[in-house]
Amino acid sequence: MKKINIIVPCYNEQDCILPFYTTVSNVVEEIRDYEFSYLFVNDGSKDKTLKIIKELSESHNEVHYISFSRNFGKESAMYAGLEYADGDFVVLMDVDLQDDPKILPQMVEAMEEGYDCCATRRMDRKGEPVIRSCFAKCFYKLMNHFTEVEIVDGARDYRMMTRQMVDAILSVNERVRFSKGIFAWVGFDYKWLEYINIERQNGQTKWSFWSLLQYALSGIIAFSTAPLKWMMGLGGGISLVSLMFLLYKILKTAIIGVDVPGYASLVVLICFFGGIHLFAIGLVGLYLGNVYSESKQRPVYILKETDIKDK
Ligand code: UDP
Ligand code: MG
Repeated sequence: MKKINIIVPCYNEQDCILPFYTTVSNVVEEIRDYEFSYLFVNDGSKDKTLKIIKELSESHNEVHYISFSRNFGKESAMYAGLEYADGDFVVLMDVDLQDDPKILPQMVEAMEEGYDCCATRRMDRKGEPVIRSCFAKCFYKLMNHFTEVEIVDGARDYRMMTRQMVDAILSVNERVRFSKGIFAWVGFDYKWLEYINIERQNGQTKWSFWSLLQYALSGIIAFSTAPLKWMMGLGGGISLVSLMFLLYKILKTAIIGVDVPGYASLVVLICFFGGIHLFAIGLVGLYLGNVYSESKQRPVYILKETDIKDK
């Protein structure tokens, strides 16, 4: 029988674990010829998440867990899960039931058809603040325009992958991980399933507007050097305009004579260029920061405990 690992990152999700397990178990029971197992990744939760996962694991052989020493973020939790997975197929799922388990049979079917990955994308952004949706749309446009990878708008992390694709993802050993980009970067044959957004069943989202904005920025920095090129272009453009202005001034002075000095325009120009310089330095700093983080070679997560023995 083929094995499928369900990887479930959890951070402060005490109310979601049991409903998730019950709902998903009911669905996978119906899928014949496959043996499903669960790998809950406790990402440094401060509530009873770990306790509930441990109890579940003690009473069910197919439930396993790994637990971090602190909160490392969902990216790290997914990475750890993929590292520990040993199945023929691996599926990533959120514990809040926003990733509809009813799609699992369709995913298995797609994998049987020979796809390397069956991924999901939501067709709408129901229940999301308008401003967040606008930013998300802009982000996907920017990302797809300026990077070599194509990130599908609304793509979720909810996806089933072959062992080969999981190994490829793990071979990308960046410390600052932007999985949406890495999934796209490794390539392989995709089947996309589309579905209507489901709102969170219990608990609350871990993403604030600012954390999402930072995440988006880190994605652009990780997958594109285009912003550096825009800055060069902008700098070149401003220099050219300044040069033309200088020529105009020289000619004007030669023909008409010396002008009355313009204090206000001078101040505005100084502030404008000061701002652009700081912005450009900040941008270069972001890239440098990434290089710095990567060069430290810190592990993506620190494991505190697990019930998996042979790893
Ligand atoms: N999550 C995690 N570590 C974090 C934040 C979130 O493991 O630091 C998990 C969380 O428990 C959930 C999944 O990642 O299973 C998605 O989180 P959330 O529902 O908050 O994100 P959203 O669906 O709002 O994008
Ligand atoms: Mg969610």
